Amino acid sequence: MNLREPDLRSIILPAFPTLLPGLDVLERGNGEIQIGLDPAHAVVIAGVAAEVAEALRGLDGNRASDDIVLAQNEHDEQLRDLMTDLTARGLVTDAGQSERHPRPETGLWSLRARHHQAAMTARRKRTAVAIHGDGRLAVAIAVLLANSGVGHIDVRASGTVREGDLGSGYTEAEIGMPRREAMAQVVHRAGADTATTRLYSDRRPELVLLTDAVVPAPEVVDELVRDGVNHLPVRVRDGVGIVGPLVVPGRSSCLRCADLHRAGRDDSWPRVASQLAGRVQQPDLGAVQACAALAAAQALRLLSPSDQAPPSWNATLEIDFFDGTIRHRDWPPHTGCGCGAR
Ligand SMILES: [Zn+2]
Repeated sequence: MNLREPDLRSIILPAFPTLLPGLDVLERGNGEIQIGLDPAHAVVIAGVAAEVAEALRGLDGNRASDDIVLAQNEHDEQLRDLMTDLTARGLVTDAGQSERHPRPETGLWSLRARHHQAAMTARRKRTAVAIHGDGRLAVAIAVLLANSGVGHIDVRASGTVREGDLGSGYTEAEIGMPRREAMAQVVHRAGADTATTRLYSDRRPELVLLTDAVVPAPEVVDELVRDGVNHLPVRVRDGVGIVGPLVVPGRSSCLRCADLHRAGRDDSWPRVASQLAGRVQQPDLGAVQACAALAAAQALRLLSPSDQAPPSWNATLEIDFFDGTIRHRDWPPHTGCGCGAR
């Protein structure tokens, strides 16, 4: 549903209404209230009774809509209308009756993506991703995606946890454990409901994240292209986090396209790349976290249907946490590749 033009007649109040996390009801004086700060979604409402403002501020998902409205003696109609309007705008959503902890953090994403939060939460729960990587990036991204409510995360890590892997999710107690097993534990700590079992060909992931190696293992990439599985490389190269290009096989430029562009500029690139293939980097934790956050957001963009392509489409995002910059670098399809992207 498009949130920009709400048809209030069709809106059903949430059973257990709650303001989206992070939103406050602010007083502006003279009976005006403001909800939200960003001009893209914030609203200012005039003529609001003090009791109604108080009731809106108290929307925390713990009381039923009918009880909240019935508790108003005089202004019940105004409160019901305002709750309906805010629901239509996506600022109020349904907390549901579940007492599950932790609740997934879909947060304000629904406002930016222009989707209703409940539908977005349900969609993420049905989504499966796989994360390949033996370093701290894989763990950091897995934590973020589990926390955001992705229902299934297949963790493809090998080897055992070492001291140098700590800092982005593993605990000291996990040193010496197989990384795959330890990463599944980390995912369960972040999102209690997230499945971590292996995905096979009958349930392919919506996205595979190829993390930690500057150059992903070619055999893994070849298989993903052959099977038509979306994939996103994520790595830190000499302190700069690089996310993308997001490969939707046959549609967006692929990693071979990027290699052909690089080889066109540097004859020796194929030889250098072959030495880097699959090799795990050991970047600073700050670079790991900055890069992981950017990567998780690109993954969630792909997993939220939209008419706008994610910024990592035919491009890389390069985050330099020392300089405080994010550079967008274009990687268009290469005419010599034959992957079908154009
Ligand atoms: Zn290509």
